Amino acid sequence: MVRQHRENRSKFYRVKCPDCENEQVIFEKAATVVDCAVCGHVLAEPTGGKATIKAEITAELQ
Ligand SMILES: [Zn+2]
Repeated sequence: MVRQHRENRSKFYRVKCPDCENEQVIFEKAATVVDCAVCGHVLAEPTGGKATIKAEITAELQ
């Protein structure tokens, strides 16, 4: 397997919904609005680059 350029990799964030405390994983460059799977609260909005995270980030995943 060919190793990709490491600087191009993107992160995922584990976030906690401020309304219902559900935790889910969001891609940092999400291209669409990400809603909480439980209550529908908007957790991230796309910007064309890194998404705007609108929830508490509890961990960064790579
Ligand atoms: Zn929620």
